[in-house]
Amino acid sequence: MKIAVAGTGYVGLVTGVCLASKGHEVTCVDVDENKVKIMKNGDSPIYEPGLSELMKEHKNNLVFTTDYEEAYREAEVIFIGVGTPEKQDGSANLSYVFEVAKQIAQTVQRDCVVVIKSTVPIGTNDKIESYIRDKQKNKDVCIYVASNPEFLSQGTAVKDTLCASRIVIGVEEVFPGEVLKKVYEKFDVPKLIVKRRSAEMIKYASNDFLALKISYINEIANLCEIVGANIEEVTEGMGYDARIGHRFLNAGIGYGGSCFPKDVKALIKTAEKNGYPMRVLKAVEEVNEAQKSILFEKLLKHYNGDLKGKQIALWGLAFKPETDDMREAPALVLIDKLIEAGASVKVYDPIAMDECKRRIGDKVVYATDMYDAVLDADALLLVTEWKEFRMPSWGVLKKTMKKAVVIDGRNIYEKSELQELEIVYACVGR
Ligand code: NAD
Repeated sequence: MKIAVAGTGYVGLVTGVCLASKGHEVTCVDVDENKVKIMKNGDSPIYEPGLSELMKEHKNNLVFTTDYEEAYREAEVIFIGVGTPEKQDGSANLSYVFEVAKQIAQTVQRDCVVVIKSTVPIGTNDKIESYIRDKQKNKDVCIYVASNPEFLSQGTAVKDTLCASRIVIGVEEVFPGEVLKKVYEKFDVPKLIVKRRSAEMIKYASNDFLALKISYINEIANLCEIVGANIEEVTEGMGYDARIGHRFLNAGIGYGGSCFPKDVKALIKTAEKNGYPMRVLKAVEEVNEAQKSILFEKLLKHYNGDLKGKQIALWGLAFKPETDDMREAPALVLIDKLIEAGASVKVYDPIAMDECKRRIGDKVVYATDMYDAVLDADALLLVTEWKEFRMPSWGVLKKTMKKAVVIDGRNIYEKSELQELEIVYACVGR
């Protein structure tokens, strides 16, 4: 099928490439000329395992362009995968989605289905359909809007798309549902056809439930520290209960990224607009905000409230491993707090260094590798659990750090091993 995808971020590009891998002719559109240039050269502008390889393998089914008219005019299906970041009041900013809707209305010359993959508040698909039908230039064509929320995780996006847990299709009529079934014909995964508003809600309810699991376990971890229980033993014991499961029960320094924080806020806002208080999600958010500061609090306590002149090393900047994304990363909160307290910060991340430079420039010192980061440091804070941080040479660290102090925000080190080596060690909930 002839498919266009608007937006080549983590969702749009992965969707486009995976659809091309199933034989569709896909044109990916982005307004960012630099990104398009990189993709035209056969490379991926984002770091996502397996994506570049799949792009190269299916390059004959893929076109990259900034020319939306060329892409949308004759497309049978147009996916919208542009960003829906949070506005200052916490609600979703839909300006990018509406901009694409406007471009579609101006250009489409055949019947087509517009598929909203971006995460949008309940009722947005209805509004987009009315908007396009009202503004469409060619009144002879019929344009349908379908909701098809995305559930991929950054770092495993390609696998999550090709072997999705489910494909949710939200439609109000039979035709767009049939078209989407054809689009996903070669995806051997469960497909669920529901009403558009249910599809929109499935996305928020799923993401926010995962955020809730994280905040819940972080609260339990904090209490474990106070009452002398070990969060890892606790979550192992909890996870065997099939109703609970082991996933998303890792205590740490709070959730970040481009989705959980904004999707929790957006659903609170949707509820508020509809006169409903959404108490659970407000608590989820409050716990998460506090959790982002716990490494800082632990460090401050170790140095008796004075971090002036201290040199602090950070391992990990991305909001999670296997991505270069730093949107809402706990590392950013931590860096600000450390600098505010008078410390200097040296950072290392295997992939997200450029992204960090782009965001905060020379606020911090950029190390050449993980061992350079800890040279003369008064403490090491483990922020993102990249594989290469899991088994460091403690001997080297002890020799090169000014003070052997390690604060582990992801509980990846063995407490007893570090204590034996006389390294001061703190973690979360153990
Ligand atoms: P992103 O910021 O990585 O990418 C968005 C892209 O859209 C950018 O490249 C931008 O230049 C482009 N764009 C903006 N306006 C455009 C226009 N008029 N035409 C064409 N391109 C345009 O965003 P993302 O992380 O891929 O997220 C996209 C949506 O998917 C959001 O609603 C997000 O909530 C949702 N989502 C994201 C994830 C994730 O893990 N990132 C997972 C599930 C759902």
